[in-house]
Amino acid sequence: MITQKEINDILNDKSPESVEALANAARKITEQYFGRTISLYTPLYLSNYCSSKCTYCGFNSHNRISRIKLNSDQMHQEMSHIANTGIENILLLTGESYQATPLSYLKEAITIAKQYFPSISLEIHPLETAEYQDLYCAGADGITVYQETYDKIRYSQVHISGKKSDYAYRLSTPQRIAEAGIRQISLGILLGLGDVKYDLCSLYAHLKKMESAFPGIEYSLSFPRLRKIKGQDFAVCDIDDITFIKIICLTRTLFPRVGINLSTREKPLLRDHAISLGITRMSAGSATCVGGYHLLTAENQDPQFDVEDSRSVGEIVNMLKSKNYDPVMTDWRRIENIPA
Ligand code: SF4
Repeated sequence: MITQKEINDILNDKSPESVEALANAARKITEQYFGRTISLYTPLYLSNYCSSKCTYCGFNSHNRISRIKLNSDQMHQEMSHIANTGIENILLLTGESYQATPLSYLKEAITIAKQYFPSISLEIHPLETAEYQDLYCAGADGITVYQETYDKIRYSQVHISGKKSDYAYRLSTPQRIAEAGIRQISLGILLGLGDVKYDLCSLYAHLKKMESAFPGIEYSLSFPRLRKIKGQDFAVCDIDDITFIKIICLTRTLFPRVGINLSTREKPLLRDHAISLGITRMSAGSATCVGGYHLLTAENQDPQFDVEDSRSVGEIVNMLKSKNYDPVMTDWRRIENIPA
């Protein structure tokens, strides 16, 4: 397994030759295992209620924003709007409020989403295995859960209160998801929070451990960079573009078959460049606030973070085609999810 020192050396070597060599290796492996395809998805924020205080997030319980939760009619409106763009893979997100968005609410959202999308993933508060099993049976295919930082001290500094401040419970969440039979798990770190070499090394070790304990699951990784949030002056991410690209390339060379996601936190130019270097899945046409697609106007939105790439799904599809890539709307048609 790669060491922190080796990661450090690779990320700090900015010579054009080394960057090029790493990029070429990553490109070759990506084409070997994934061809020239990029899966597309759109995130849908169902609720911004949150009972945790994470200092870097616009939804944190102490931030004075308007709190909204979609009801079933509004879910239909938002989902229908997204489905009309051609998207078939939806990521449903909530803040971490066990009261505002209980299991029953999440199951209702999945049931509605099934009418519009063949593939449904969720990014929600951590649950127990039996609860994940309920979501699986309702129709959930994938769950995203980021540790954010694996450094326990740093974790406690930025996760001040609420359930998310429980480091160990969050760390054990991927295992509970796997035990529930969910077929896709997405792990990640928030770049800019902790020491990058430590967090990368820990994330890789976590993935290895999951792969060996649960080999049948489809894993993917994400490396969101910290972005400014409304009303907060949190530290800006110190990971520059070249280092960010090197993280993607390094990950690809270490894990040839793992999926790597790229969100609209990143600018169009960088996203377009990154697709050949290891990215397998990207969001398109994203709004990062509740009701952002159809229900709210731009002036009264409180996003979790600002979107840097505001291109529509059609524009992303055209960009991919112009680079001779196939945009993949879904590689999955739902079968009945039956508990193991
Ligand atoms: S990161 Fe999640 S748990 Fe933390 S404040 Fe934001 S929505 Fe809440």
